[in-house]
Amino acid sequence: MLKKVICTLISLSILVSSLASCSGSKSSDSDKPDDNYSNFYEIYVRSFSDSNGDGIGDLQGLISKMDYLHAREGEDDSMSLGIDAVWLMPIFTSPSEHKYDVTNYMEIDPTYGTMQDFDQMLKEFHERGIRVILDMVVNHTSIEHPWFKQAVEALNSGVESKYIDYYNFTQEPELDEEGEIDEGYRPVEGNEEGYYYEGRFSVDMPDLNLKNPEVISELKDILKFWIDKGIDGYRLDACTSYFTGNLNKSVEFLKFVVDYCKSINPDFYLVGEVWSDSYIISRYYKSGIDSLFNFDCSFVGPYGGLLNNVTQDKNGSMLSKRLENWNITMRNMNINAIDAPFLSNHDTVRSATYIEDSSDRKLAASLYMMLPGNCFIYYGEEIGMTEGWINDSEKRLPIMWSVDENGMDIVPPKGSKHVGSPYYGVYEQLEQPDSLLNHYKKLINIKNKNPEIQRAQVVSSCDIDSYNVSAYTCAYNNSSVMVLHNLAASPRVVDLKSAGYERYSEIGGFAVADDYVEYEERRAYIDDLEYETPEVRANAVPMVYVDGKLTLPPKTTVILRCSDKVNSTFVTTTTVPYVSPSDLVTPSDLVTPTDLVTSTDLYS
Ligand code: CA
Repeated sequence: MLKKVICTLISLSILVSSLASCSGSKSSDSDKPDDNYSNFYEIYVRSFSDSNGDGIGDLQGLISKMDYLHAREGEDDSMSLGIDAVWLMPIFTSPSEHKYDVTNYMEIDPTYGTMQDFDQMLKEFHERGIRVILDMVVNHTSIEHPWFKQAVEALNSGVESKYIDYYNFTQEPELDEEGEIDEGYRPVEGNEEGYYYEGRFSVDMPDLNLKNPEVISELKDILKFWIDKGIDGYRLDACTSYFTGNLNKSVEFLKFVVDYCKSINPDFYLVGEVWSDSYIISRYYKSGIDSLFNFDCSFVGPYGGLLNNVTQDKNGSMLSKRLENWNITMRNMNINAIDAPFLSNHDTVRSATYIEDSSDRKLAASLYMMLPGNCFIYYGEEIGMTEGWINDSEKRLPIMWSVDENGMDIVPPKGSKHVGSPYYGVYEQLEQPDSLLNHYKKLINIKNKNPEIQRAQVVSSCDIDSYNVSAYTCAYNNSSVMVLHNLAASPRVVDLKSAGYERYSEIGGFAVADDYVEYEERRAYIDDLEYETPEVRANAVPMVYVDGKLTLPPKTTVILRCSDKVNSTFVTTTTVPYVSPSDLVTPSDLVTPTDLVTSTDLYS
């Protein structure tokens, strides 16, 4: 009897040609749901593209590179990454290179351009269907901010000024465990009364007094100013420092920012930086914020490292189980939460720095891009830029556009010694079917074709997990897909039929992280290994889905679509599983959700 071949059998040569053929198609966004789910790209404007030859990237330079981010509707997208949202690191007036210390929240830094440039940039982003979120640093200002200068002047001359109460001046600074003055407190220069100010991040960044109604009023004006300009969201810096050491008050302030922004534009998107472990992050979701960066996924320790660990150890089942638990934890705090996983950002080195194997770089990208929520790609991560660990400048080097245009029209940030460059830049990699960049592009395509992955309300780890295989389902709008990753360097077979998943019968996409340019070598290598079945040995690498058995080639991701409707409604629970490095959290640090204050008169 002829066996019925349910799905497909794909050889590597077809894989290569199908990758190549994905370039040159027409950009189309018409099917994308109009919501806050996006594939984000984080940009340091200073290191992206310079338009006027002064060696500093700027807004006009960014405008000139917009086709790379996303082609216009209906135009050839072969030279585009295909992201649909950007996070711009701070662009407001600031004396520093990083601009996380602001002197004027309602002006564009002159080295980046003018307000006219900003308006043009925003318009052109929106014409391409790209959402724009701005970095909003409200925990502190620059020491050069007129508020702080007036406050210090008044304090030192003994006169009254409302600006003194804009910051946290004190003659009794907090002490650390050794009884020394806490390093978050800095002496006020020229002051003979022994005043200190709170400056948690640096001497140049005095913390604002977020209890002061006048500061709140100023912040409202600032938040409203850019919302009225038409931006789509804020990335909120340093949320744990709003009230250092007081989680409840920080969450309360965050809730004020969220509520205020959404009162102006209900669709406004907010993502916060809570650089901590997942227990603390989950508590901040009580503020009602859309997203918080998933630091567990990123980088390497102390809080992060999940994706790197899973990639290195080829431990697929850990990923799917952690994911299921995290989804339950997060949604119990905010049922509409959108997770925000990332591999690298401007504070961490890019992932290619610590993931050396080129196929593992692709694998790590596959793992994180297929996580539900909004992925945040750090500019240059997609071409495998590497950097030094010494200082922040080395993590923010100019992007390498091409071998010829080595980003060197931009002066590297001060203090950076390392020139981190992959073999090929953006433009070369766009032409190479097997490049890391084209792998990212392919993953974005897969997600756009399978909206359930990003938008999953219910995420379930599947029983077909094995140590090397990660398998989970994503349910959204009564529709479901299964994401499968084989992390191993040899094929794995999963029996979907006997595990009860035979309804997941249609292939919705696949991506191979294995370096198939080294196919012959790989073939020779895996011939030495033991396989689960003789069929796999015979075929070595092809993906085969026959009689409910799926053969996953090495380091391959497959999306399977469910043929039936499913229940995609998340049900909140009273017990919230928590899987995280719990030694980082002592019981006294913990609060229950009901401890959290939900509103006060101050922020109303
Ligand atoms: Ca410039």
